[in-house]
Amino acid sequence: MNLVLMGLPGAGKGTQAEKIVEKYGVPHISTGDMFRAAMKDETELGLKAKSFMDKGELVPDEVTIGIVHERLSQSDCAQGFLLDGFPRTVAQAEALEDILANLNRQIDYVINVDVDKDILMARLTGRRICKSCGATYHLEFNPPSQEDKCDRCGGELYQRADDNAETVQNRLDVNLKQTEPLLAFYNEKGYLKNINGQQDINVVFEDIDWLLEGLRK
Ligand SMILES: [Zn+2]
Repeated sequence: MNLVLMGLPGAGKGTQAEKIVEKYGVPHISTGDMFRAAMKDETELGLKAKSFMDKGELVPDEVTIGIVHERLSQSDCAQGFLLDGFPRTVAQAEALEDILANLNRQIDYVINVDVDKDILMARLTGRRICKSCGATYHLEFNPPSQEDKCDRCGGELYQRADDNAETVQNRLDVNLKQTEPLLAFYNEKGYLKNINGQQDINVVFEDIDWLLEGLRK
């Protein structure tokens, strides 16, 4: 079960990753975790990555790809893996094809948790935080009983700058621009499975689960 998981910020990718890992026991391989592990183990590539990050520079593709190769070669990935946050570009996707060919493997599915941009905007801009006690709310998913007032302490609720419409819009636009060619690449390869991420979290997982059960036959 060799999987790549994709989805824009707010699509609920993290929740689905947890559910996949829980049911199928495949290692969840996120770029952040991979980097941290390589740096902690002080592998040659880990140290190389660290030298760029310490300077505040982007880690070059060859280093990232090397780290992914090392990780996917480890024994816990023998029965499969769930890649999350990699690849981000078509160049990285092509490199991943090479890595997997090298390991005599290939991707089974690229699962894209698909949610309309308008809905993502609402999800990502809905968070409110209490100025006094720090309690968090969401206008849609966990609304306070009185607008702009904390249920716990009556404090004033505010929106973090990161959550404001303009910032979120930019973040989504950058992500969309990056993701579209990647989705096209995987669609052409026949790996892409779009899953409707606008349903209840459990129904989204049922759809993914149905696909994955097919792989076990
Ligand atoms: Zn409060």
